[in-house]
Amino acid sequence: YMASLKYKDAAFTVESPDVTYTGDEILAKYTYETVVIEGTKAIPTKTLFTFKTKRHVPKTGLMLVGWGGNNGTTTTAGILANRMKLSWRTKEGERHANYFGSLTQASTVRLGNDKFGNSVYVPFHRLLPMLHPNDLVIGGWDISKQDLGDAMRRAQVLDAGLQDQLYPHMKALQPLPSIYFPDFIAANQADRADNVLTGSKQEQLDAVRAHIRDFKASHSLEKVIVLWTANTERFAAVEEGNNDTAENLLAAIEREEEELSPSTLFAVASILEGCSYINGSPQNTFVPGVIDLAQQRGVYVGGDDFKSGQTKMKSVLVDFLVSAGIKPTSIVSYNHLGNNDGKNLSAPQTFRSKEISKSNVVDDMVASNRLLYAEDEHPDHVVVIKYVPCVGDSKRAMDEYTSEIFMGGTNTIVMHNTCEDSLLATPLIYDLVVLTEMAERITVRREGEGDGTFESFASVLSLLSYLIKAPLVPPGTPVVNALFAQRQCIVNIFRACLGLPPDNNMLLEHKLV
Ligand code: NAD
Repeated sequence: YMASLKYKDAAFTVESPDVTYTGDEILAKYTYETVVIEGTKAIPTKTLFTFKTKRHVPKTGLMLVGWGGNNGTTTTAGILANRMKLSWRTKEGERHANYFGSLTQASTVRLGNDKFGNSVYVPFHRLLPMLHPNDLVIGGWDISKQDLGDAMRRAQVLDAGLQDQLYPHMKALQPLPSIYFPDFIAANQADRADNVLTGSKQEQLDAVRAHIRDFKASHSLEKVIVLWTANTERFAAVEEGNNDTAENLLAAIEREEEELSPSTLFAVASILEGCSYINGSPQNTFVPGVIDLAQQRGVYVGGDDFKSGQTKMKSVLVDFLVSAGIKPTSIVSYNHLGNNDGKNLSAPQTFRSKEISKSNVVDDMVASNRLLYAEDEHPDHVVVIKYVPCVGDSKRAMDEYTSEIFMGGTNTIVMHNTCEDSLLATPLIYDLVVLTEMAERITVRREGEGDGTFESFASVLSLLSYLIKAPLVPPGTPVVNALFAQRQCIVNIFRACLGLPPDNNMLLEHKLV
């Protein structure tokens, strides 16, 4: 008999004395095993946790800032197309709506072995009772008043045959007016801005809060998540007394301080409404005052910048090279893109935000291997981005990785990546929402310590790092960029919610006679 691989798309329950299913919850006792290093000793350590997961999947709304953009329209179109199970003809043949590119909807995890030793894989979304993107209610804001039907056409992302079927449905969707401070995005965006809020900063903040409340009430939603997929802003200066603490930030809004970005106001509005807020762009929305406010209110924030194309490859390739004992000495990345994101990034201040976001992505991998790199040594790392209208949303990313190999040799890898930007980013938006919503239903208790109450994760939701180019982490904690470590983090935490150990890939059952 040859053990092989099985796939099961069916719900499962865990049978273990450590796991209890009630009508509302899954309770799982879990032993977290780590290794503590003290001097020359490595000490295996066990900590007992109980994970509590709410089973009811709430009716959830997603409000996008930048709803009428390429990502915003594609996110909406993708849900409608999947919900209606649409098919369309292209010159290559018939295509069907799917969720390819989504970790939660289109990937699988190895759950364990059957009794014959076959590896059994299940869809990722079967791990826990997760929200399905088809069930999301979508709304949002845009500084451009084009309805979603025309905005989808403007975006030029989806095949015409699909656009035509979706147009009447999308036409009915109208973005809410948004906060627009021209200084924060490129001047070339000004002709789009015909749907903007007016009044003081406080009044605009209050208007956005009212929009969230109205959306929630009018669709009878149990919760709302807000996600920024609007244009990349320039960085905001972090200033003492202005945006450094929650109190100072709220006061600065009231007194009409200049150096406050639209995205920061959106984050504040969302947090004050108790809604998780995710930042899909690179700017520093999460100034210390926002993080402070999120912590005070116990609300999740996640960011920054979707990790969709070039950086995703980088966080795989450099991890592979460094963990193989090969020493990358230079990484040079050229991008050109022709969509409105590219147009906005052609201004130096907004480009700078993207450059910063792309620049630190190999730091953790380099720092993990001092056999290859001296203490303050790293590879040369340069990123170039150019606006070339002709390529539209089909971004090109070209990278050259030069590495030092055995005995002073050189290995060069050159890659050309056609990124179809919004088709790569949209599934990440679904995942960010599904995972954030899931995290809102998980609480943890450390046994034998504290007062025995269950706690949420830290407000800065680093669990989302897999989907993020410059992961925001709780202050003082390490950033992980390596893609597979990020994926395992999510899978293993979800397994822990079921009292299941991490998949250790040892496959001992197949290695012993
Ligand atoms: P886009 O320009 O097509 O869409 C952005 C939308 O935001 C536009 O419709 C614009 O009118 C609107 N907007 C600008 N300022 C606004 C404000 N203050 N309030 C509300 N709406 C506002 O861009 P896109 O291709 O959809 O990308 C969106 C963002 O996602 C960009 O910042 C981009 O850098 C980031 N991002 C995209 C990818 C990707 O597509 N692969 C990857 C990483 C990050």
